Amino acid sequence: MELRIAHLYPEEMNMYGDRGNVLALVRRCQWRQWSVTLTALRVGDSVDPAAFDLIFMGGGQDSQQIKIVQDLHTHKAAGLRQAAERGVVFLTICGGYQLLGHYYKPHQGENLPGLGLIDAYTVAGSQRFIGNVSIRRPDGQTVVGFENHSGLTYLGNGVQPLGTVVDGYGNNGQDGCEGAVSGNLYGTYLHGSLLPKNPSLADELIEKALSVRYGKPIALFPLDDTLEHKAHERALTLKP
Ligand code: GLN
Repeated sequence: MELRIAHLYPEEMNMYGDRGNVLALVRRCQWRQWSVTLTALRVGDSVDPAAFDLIFMGGGQDSQQIKIVQDLHTHKAAGLRQAAERGVVFLTICGGYQLLGHYYKPHQGENLPGLGLIDAYTVAGSQRFIGNVSIRRPDGQTVVGFENHSGLTYLGNGVQPLGTVVDGYGNNGQDGCEGAVSGNLYGTYLHGSLLPKNPSLADELIEKALSVRYGKPIALFPLDDTLEHKAHERALTLKP
């Protein structure tokens, strides 16, 4: 079994060490003796829609989003859309999440056009949401992380949130939703980085990506996540 991961803009879109999510995905495959390839897709690189099973983009300040958005549409959007159409798993964090939707309207300047892969849009708000976050997923599991954004994200009718906010602000501080899940496309405001403290979410993404790649349901055998669960439980005690 092999998992092929693409990391979009690893230098520019890496707020709060979001690259830790890629490290967690790689290690959770290696701990299961699977081969895993990791490809950085930087400014100027194009995207082969058939070459990857999981695509990751981290967060970034408005200036970083402005810096990469033209390249995103010039060199990557067509390949990313084709990848999404064939079920490739996307994990996007904060600024990356905002660019998965229709647009992000920053405090100043023009709207930043998003990929339009999920029915959502974001407008910069007057308040910056900063602090620890915990959310509850539909299956009852908690997910923990840290948020720092002024963007207010609003989901379209067909888009489910990643979870409902228990502590923190989430998508917009108003509707109790955090993140977005649309098919195999995931977005969230949770930095941390997210996956090391939320191992079941990491395995959910890997299972979905491998199931698409191999055309059949793939179930992962469990790992010893004692340390991960300790970190998760500790994070739950850190109120916003
Ligand atoms: N620049 C965006 C905002 O402030 C995203 C920030 C981030 O990626 N943490 O909402």
